[in-house]
Amino acid sequence: MGNASSTTDEPGNRSRSPQAARLQAREVTPLELLLLREFVEQHLQQSRDGASAGEIEQRTAAWTVTDVGKLPEELRTCCVCLEDVCAGQPVRTLPCLHTFHAQCAEEWLKKKKTCPLCQFDIVDGADGGSSSQEA
Ligand SMILES: [Zn+2]
Ligand SMILES: [Zn+2]
Repeated sequence: MGNASSTTDEPGNRSRSPQAARLQAREVTPLELLLLREFVEQHLQQSRDGASAGEIEQRTAAWTVTDVGKLPEELRTCCVCLEDVCAGQPVRTLPCLHTFHAQCAEEWLKKKKTCPLCQFDIVDGADGGSSSQEA
């Protein structure tokens, strides 16, 4: 979905009938609102598992790869996007020394504050803590 072929669908933009507007307004039922709220709450909860931009900035080191040969072999591939890390690319190193593309690391850590490789918690530090959460 999301193709940019939307010019031929409507014969005229000026025919904005109030009927259509009413139809749209009626489409949001209380049930849908409820679902929407659940979705938003879920989303908020999910992002609470992530780190904030400030935390990412504080806990990880941003730098630029100049020589891929200096990276340990396991880090020459970004395990977030599964693409190679190339010279000249900005990367981020987590406290556990695992390194990813800067963009990938940020995107990942905003959703999940743990290292995708070793589950190290970049905000709480150690990962061997007490996890007493039941679903
Ligand atoms: Zn990547
Ligand atoms: Zn790690």
